[in-house]
This record gives sequence, C-alpha cells and structure tokens, in this order.
Amino acid sequence: MAFAPKRVFFERDALDYPMGKKMMDIFSKRTDIELHLLRSHNRVTGIPGSTPEKAYEEGKNTLVVGVRKTLKFETCKPSAHYQLPLVTGCMGKCEYCYLNTRFGKKPYIRIYVNIDEILRSAAGYIVQRKPDITVFEGAATSDPVPVEPYTGALADTIGFFAGQESGRFRFVTKYTDIDSLLDIHHNNRTTVRFSINAGPVIKEYEHFTPSLNRRIEAARKIALAGYPLGFIIGPVILFDRWEERYADMINELQNQLVDAGSRHIRFEVISHRFTSRAKKTIMEVFPGTTLPMEENERKFKYGQFGYGKYVYPPDAMEEIHTYFTEKLREAFPDCSIDYII
Ligand code: SF4
Repeated sequence: MAFAPKRVFFERDALDYPMGKKMMDIFSKRTDIELHLLRSHNRVTGIPGSTPEKAYEEGKNTLVVGVRKTLKFETCKPSAHYQLPLVTGCMGKCEYCYLNTRFGKKPYIRIYVNIDEILRSAAGYIVQRKPDITVFEGAATSDPVPVEPYTGALADTIGFFAGQESGRFRFVTKYTDIDSLLDIHHNNRTTVRFSINAGPVIKEYEHFTPSLNRRIEAARKIALAGYPLGFIIGPVILFDRWEERYADMINELQNQLVDAGSRHIRFEVISHRFTSRAKKTIMEVFPGTTLPMEENERKFKYGQFGYGKYVYPPDAMEEIHTYFTEKLREAFPDCSIDYII
C-alpha cells in the first residue's frame, strides 16, 4: 500500500541530491501525476480544495520533496530523546489522527532528500550525550513507511544506526511496505513498532490503512528478521463488546508471533482522548464521524502542553488497565508493557 500521490512538488534544490533525482526520475515517467517545481518547500501553493473535506483529501494526495534546512532536532519526550526528521505527514486518513491539528487544512506529505546531512547531524547528537545512549524517533510527525519504496530513507537510517554503539532508532507504522528492510544489517539497534487496533476501529476510523491481518503479517516478517518489535495498541475505544474484539486482536497477534522468534515484545496502550480543537477539525473534515467525542462522558484533564484533553473517566481507565495487563501477560508472558494510559 505504497503512497500513490496525485501531484508532486519538487523544491529546486532537492534535485541536487541523489534522492531528489531518483524521485524525479520515478515520477516524471508517470503521466498520471502532476509535477511542479517550488522555490521553497515551506511555500507550497496550488493544492486545490475549497471545502475542509476537499482540502484535506487533496492535501493527502500531495507529496512535497524538499531539503531539510534546519538540522537542529526537536526533542521527543518521553519515548525518545530526539525526533529524526525524515518525513512529515501521512497518506492515511485516520479520523482521530494526532496530525489533524498539526499540518493545516491541506496536510501534504513531505520528504527530505538530504538524508546524509540529517544522519550526520544525528551522529553529532549521539557524540554529545556519550556514554549515554541517545534514542531517535523516526515517526514523531509522520508515518514514514508508505513513502519508503520511493525514498529508501528508513533503510539508510537503519544501516546507519547499526554502526552507532550509543545510538538507537525507533519508528512506528500502520503500514506494511517493509520488505526492503528485512535484509538490512540492523544490529538490534532499531525497534520497529506497529500501531494496531481492534478490527471494528480500523474499519470505521482508519481509512486508507492496511487491515489488522496485514499489519500483523508485516510484524511477523519484522520479528523473523530479528528486529526488536513493539506494538502501540490505540486508540482504545470502548465500543459495544470491545473486550471481545480486542481479545480477537490479541489472539491473532499471538497466533502469528508464537513461532516468529521474538520473545520480548514491547507494548504501549493508549486510550482514546481528544481536545476541543481536534474535535472541531474532525467534525469539519469528517462531518459524519461516529467517533465518541461527547465531553460529558469524559473527564477533562490538563495536558502538559497547556491545553486540556477529554479522557475516559477513572473507572473506565481502570477497566482498560486491568483488561490489557491481564490479556497481554496471558498471551505474551515475556512482554514489557511500557505504559497504559
Ligand atoms: Fe495519522 Fe497514523 Fe493514521 Fe497516518 S496512519 S493518518 S499518522 S494515525
């Protein structure tokens, strides 16, 4: 399910880099894709869409190929030390996505072609923190996997970290275009995490993403390739008979992974939450949404960045906590459960 853009914008300078040239070569052969040149990847004009729904749709069909100017990385607490900027944005159209309020009304996907400079900068951060280990997150503002067949950026990054004694890399994905990563020497320094959910949540809210089975198949391949493996289960939504459907998901995971050699799997479990701003955007882009966003059924909680969010009330959170602790321990006795929030 690789990304198939309708239009691609190239920043002029990007064509000076091998990855930029390669992308131009690929896309210029495609008569069904519009190509545009840009002076700066920060000023993208010409994406159509006059209503919020159309603007979102067209943004998601657009790829921007640029050069990353700032090589100063954002921090990425608590899961990693720094964000590694390879890609921003995502082709998926998950109704609840945390990116919905981040990238404006036309949320295009942007890739950076100066991967060597980005990795050199990462090496500098690693040296600064030595002898401590420095962890980089490759999916803080994106899902990098659907563009990997074009860029090869994850493959380069995994190879780079294999040689970094004090550096670690991790990324998370819902996508399955990972075959090109299977034969890379990763040296156990890259953790691949898959974001999964119960079947009904995927079907109802995670548009343009692979099915649960396909994600689990990809996770099995990653486990067989010896990568450290993890899963983010979320957002957990308490729909009718949720316990049964999340049990189906965990059973399927267990069946597929039992003989895949990955004993130590890490889990992160995140319950559904929303902010007032996210709700407003979601209602504009997905006017018919059935996402549960009734404020009076939730508890308001002040967030660390100064805005509040609506989370499930304490008794529901307790239920989620007990349920996932028991089920995951039962299915994967050696797993780590990093958090259930
Ligand atoms: Fe957002 Fe992830 Fe869905 Fe992409 S796959 S739209 S990043 S939630």
